[in-house]
Amino acid sequence: MTDIKVGVLGLQGAVREHMNAIEANGATAVLVKNKEELNEVDGLIIPGGESTTMRRLIDKYDFMNPLKKFAESGKPMFGTCAGLILLAKSIEGYKEPHIGVMDVHVERNSFGRQVDSFEANLDIANVAEDFTAVFIRAPHIVSAGENVEVLAKHNGRIVAAREGQFLGCSFHPELTQDHRLTGYFISMVDESKKN
Ligand code: GLN
Repeated sequence: MTDIKVGVLGLQGAVREHMNAIEANGATAVLVKNKEELNEVDGLIIPGGESTTMRRLIDKYDFMNPLKKFAESGKPMFGTCAGLILLAKSIEGYKEPHIGVMDVHVERNSFGRQVDSFEANLDIANVAEDFTAVFIRAPHIVSAGENVEVLAKHNGRIVAAREGQFLGCSFHPELTQDHRLTGYFISMVDESKKN
C-alpha cells in the first residue's frame, strides 16, 4: 500500500489524533483546512466535535459544495461521531441534513445525559471482534437504508455502518491506540483508487 493520501477535515475536533491513526496505518495524512486541499486527497475523515459548530464552520469556509462534490466523485468518506451526523441523510428533529450523503437516519446525543461518555467493547464486522470504542455524547443510527451494511451494534443500537464509499461510526476510533477501524477505511480508499 503506497501513496494513499487521506485528508482530515480540520475545522474542529480531534484532528491530530486522526492524522496519527492514518500514519500508523502507513498512509499519508493531510490536514484539510481549505476547500482546495480536498483535491489533494483520495479519501476524507470528518472528525467528531460538535456537528452544529462544524456546520457553521463548513458554511463560513465555503466547504459545503466542495464536500458534496467530493462525495459525488466517489471518493471514500469516514464520519466519526459528529462527522457521522454531518454525513447522514437525515437527523432526528431536523428538517434538513448537513452534507446528507449516507443513507442513515441518526439521533444526536442519544445515549442519555447521565452517561455522557463511556467505553464499550465492540464486535465490528470485517474489522475487529474486540474493539474498545470511546463514546462521547454520541449519536446512533436509528435506521439505515437497504444498501447500508451494519458493522457494529451496542445495546441493540447501530454504532458503525458502511454504505459503499461511506463509513460512519458513533464513537471516536482515534482516541485509543487501536487503529484497525482507520485501517479498514484506508483499505476502502486503496480499493477506490484501483477502480
Ligand atoms: N454531540 C455531538 C453532536 O451532536 C457529537 C459528539 C462528538 O462528536 N463526540 O454533534
